[in-house]
This record gives sequence, structure tokens and C-alpha cells, in this order.
Amino acid sequence: MLDTLRYVAHETDVRLEVTTLPIPGRNDIDTEVAELASWIANMNAEATRLPAEIAGDGRFVVDPEPPGYLRLHEAGELRIRAEAARDLLAPCRVCQRPCRGVDRLADEVGACRIGRYAHVASAFPHLGEEEVLRGWRGSGAVFFSGCNLRCVFCQNADISQRAAGPELSPGELAAVMLALQAEGCHNINLVTPEHVVPQVLEALPIAAEAGLTLPLVYNTSAYDALDSLALLDGVVDVYMPDIKLFDPWLTRSYLGVHDYGEVARQAVAAMHAQVGDLIVDRHGIARGGLVVRHLVMPGLGAASQAIVRWLAELSTDTFVNVMDQYRPDWKVLTTERYPELRDRVTRAEVDAVLTAARDAGLWRFDRRRRPV
Ligand code: SF4
Repeated sequence: MLDTLRYVAHETDVRLEVTTLPIPGRNDIDTEVAELASWIANMNAEATRLPAEIAGDGRFVVDPEPPGYLRLHEAGELRIRAEAARDLLAPCRVCQRPCRGVDRLADEVGACRIGRYAHVASAFPHLGEEEVLRGWRGSGAVFFSGCNLRCVFCQNADISQRAAGPELSPGELAAVMLALQAEGCHNINLVTPEHVVPQVLEALPIAAEAGLTLPLVYNTSAYDALDSLALLDGVVDVYMPDIKLFDPWLTRSYLGVHDYGEVARQAVAAMHAQVGDLIVDRHGIARGGLVVRHLVMPGLGAASQAIVRWLAELSTDTFVNVMDQYRPDWKVLTTERYPELRDRVTRAEVDAVLTAARDAGLWRFDRRRRPV
């Protein structure tokens, strides 16, 4: 049985405590229990020794407070936000894409291909996210289908370019969030939510009323409208923008919009103004702030270096995941138009970006990153 307890402690939440009563005449069991308690204490101590880039020697560690959306819900503000967000649907100006005259309240669709209600392609405890999100029980990922960008290298084109998955009412979306909470996830991770902000805000009061208490992560491609972000102020705990490219010629060619760089800079600055730098609980799980992703692409190292320098200007305490897992996909493979994107990224390219980031003053990197 003690071996089973060790396994459970290791595989789930190591923060266990052992309470025992001595059993007269069974010193062997007492010894084993004492050994187990010592082992767990060591595990707990190990787990709370957080890396400097996450904890900042304690200055980024906080005692968790209830998520902001609960306070807004109690004040009646969350429903007001949802109503204001619903107005953005007709004509749709939920994101920054210049769709004109699209009435999503009447279920018309624009570039994102999503009408009145959100479609969810999948939802599950995600163990592949950044450690500050996935922890040991997973990040509660809700993958919305549809997207306002046309990244030619998209690895999720099967869900980003069509309304995959069921259409969910606000109540059904709230139920998805609650199910992820019931599964033990550390947070609700809204993946590609920029075109369904009203739908998320409509679901939240229902979820809050039914007991949702997890932090909200807004996992975005950063082509967000400032009006939508303003409605999320105090609602979202962790913003996680994936900054792609800044150069208008590159974004026109590879993302389908020329103004991505300008829009993303404004959006990420607004996100940072709302939530500040990443803060974690004593277990190293994100409780608030900004986590930035950036995927290094083949031959575009200089573009990546411009992005990390800009991030350092925003705050040198920005927590950054410089991603090296680019692989060609979608139109890069199905057309002949992007031969320059068919390569893999080299170690030297990624390291040059990390070096530029460090030179600019950034120092909080996702721990899975290789050292420079
Ligand atoms: S959310 Fe969709 S329909 Fe609305 S502006 Fe953006 S891309 Fe167009």
C-alpha cells in the first residue's frame, strides 16, 4: 500500500501530508510510514524550490486570490461585460480583421468562419503546455475552431480554417469549463479565443454561478481588437499571446494580414498594462500576468530578434517561451509558393534569438528551453 501511495504522490499532487497513529506492536509499519512522510517532505521541498526565472527569488510568487472574474460576477459587472461584448457581434468588430457588415448575431460569418456561437474542436487537460500552466494536473485547454489569421504554416488548419466541432451555447461552454475544473486542471486555457470573446463572456457568469474558480488563460495569436481586450480587463488572469512576426511584408505573405505587427504590439502592450508580468503560486503555477510565445521560423532569425528586443522594451521581466519546434505544414506543404519555409529551424538560429533576448535584458524563459 505504501508503494501505491508513493506512486500516487509522484504522479499527482506531491503536496501530501501523512498523519498516522502508532499501531501498538507494529513498529515495522510505523517505520515505513515515517519513511514515506520523510520522502513526501523532501518531494514537497523540492517542488517549492522554484527556478529563479519563474519565482524571481520570491518576488513573483503570490498567495492565490480568487480570479478577478469572480469579483466582477459578484458585483454584477460580468453580465454587463457580456452584453457589451454581444454588441460587438453586429456588425462584427470582435477582432481587428476588417470584416465589414458581418452580422454574427444573425449567424453570418466573416473571415474567422464562426457565426453566433463558438465551436469547440476539443477540450482536455493539456500536459504539453508551458510548465507554469500545465503543472502536474494539466492546463484545461478549450480549443476554439476558426481563426482570424491565415498562417500558411498553420499546424491546426483542420480546426482553424473551418467550424470544426460542435456549436456550443453559453451554458454548454460553461459546462465544458466546469468539466475541466472537475478533472483537476490548474486553469481554463482558452485557445484561439480572439474571435469568440463575446461567447466566452456570455459563458462565464453561468460558469461562475455554478462554481468555476480556476484562473483564466487567454491563449491568443495576438490579432486582437483593443475593444475586446478592454472588456476582458479584470476577467482574464493570464494573457498568453503568440507573437508571430512584425514586418508588414512578411505578415502579408505568411499570415494574410499586413497590419499584424502593429495590431499585435498594441494588443500585447494592452495585455501587459492589464496584468503585468507573470506571477505564480508557491507551486510555480501561473496565477496572473503575461506569458509570451514566439516561434522561430527558418531564415527569419532577424525578425525574431526584433520581437524579443521589443519585448524587453515592454518589460525585461517578461516571461518568454522561445519555441524551436517549427515544422512546415498546411500551405507550405500543399503549394509551391513558400519553399523558403520548408526547412527546419537550426539550433544556431534559435540560440541567436535567445542570445539577442538575453542581451536585451530578458531573463525569464520557459524552463524547457535549452541553455544558450
Ligand atoms: S471576429 Fe471574425 S467576423 Fe468578426 S471581425 Fe474578426 S474575423 Fe471578422
